[in-house]
Amino acid sequence: AAKGGGRMGVQLFSADMEAPVLERLHLETDLRRALAEGELMLWYQPQWSMDGRRLVGAEALLRWNHPHRGLVPPGQFIPVAEASGLIREIGAWVLDQATRDAQAWNAANAAQGAAPLRVAVNVSASQLNRSDIVETVAAALAAHRLPPHLLELELTESGIVENPEHGLQVLLRLQALGVRLAIDDFGTGFSSLSYLTRLPVHSLKIDRSFVAGLPAAQSDLAVVQAICAMARKLGLQVVAEGVETQAQLQTLKHTGCDMVQGFLFAKPMPAHEFRQRCVAQPATAHPLLSGS
Ligand code: C2E
Ligand code: MG
Ligand code: MG
Ligand code: MG
Repeated sequence: AAKGGGRMGVQLFSADMEAPVLERLHLETDLRRALAEGELMLWYQPQWSMDGRRLVGAEALLRWNHPHRGLVPPGQFIPVAEASGLIREIGAWVLDQATRDAQAWNAANAAQGAAPLRVAVNVSASQLNRSDIVETVAAALAAHRLPPHLLELELTESGIVENPEHGLQVLLRLQALGVRLAIDDFGTGFSSLSYLTRLPVHSLKIDRSFVAGLPAAQSDLAVVQAICAMARKLGLQVVAEGVETQAQLQTLKHTGCDMVQGFLFAKPMPAHEFRQRCVAQPATAHPLLSGS
């Protein structure tokens, strides 16, 4: 058809159709090199407990320090990594680096008599369903001797329900390793809540989009209240992500949310900065979390 049909030919080979494909090829080649050349980095965003008013740990967020493009956010290259299968190697690198960093922080904390910090790592659907994730997690923990309960894996709902039977088996094996499991972006999917809460998870991360509407948007407030009430009954912890204002923080406190994370406290920062600012510090309560 492309030979005879002019219009079809033009459409197939027009510049604007070709561009995204080329772009993706470049990205994929670049990404392969990035992994080999050490251009990937983990940034860390602190997570705070509402009750203890203390730093409990940090979420590892992947960044690509590209020689020409600058700092590339994960949303721009993780989809390419997933489509090309590179996510497997990248995911293994992330787990290795995050457990290494956490063990280093905790050596410093132990020397100061401070409590150990937890590290949270994102695991995407394709990692959960296509790769030897359990072995990869076990290898990272063993390599850096990080106690398993100090590693939390953030799984997405779509990752779990894509292949529910397999997903549950993987979750049970991860649970047996002793790592903590969280459901990320909670509330954004379409799976039944009763199904999700029957999974062997420890915490639910309320999606940023619900937090953003607090306290004014009644529907967002209702969702957040419902998640917190359900979690309390089920003995799960609730983490709110994307907390940007005092008003949001107060609302989350009143609804009984256990942990908070967001620009109000700190943006994600390079590992060395996290270590400098947050590790081996005297255990004082965060000023935003003190009082009522
Ligand atoms: P996520 O796990 O839901 O991470 C939260 C995102 O919200 C992060 O974006 C974080 O920088 C941003 N954020 C945190 N607090 C605030 C806030 O107060 N306001 C606003 N506006 N944003 C806030 P980031 O770092 O661009 O990551 C985007 C997504 O990429 C993550 O969403 C996660 O799904 C994925 N991702 C990041 N690192 C990894 C990784 O190592 N592996 C995998 N598979 N996915 C990753
Ligand atoms: Mg996350
Ligand atoms: Mg999230
Ligand atoms: Mg998200």
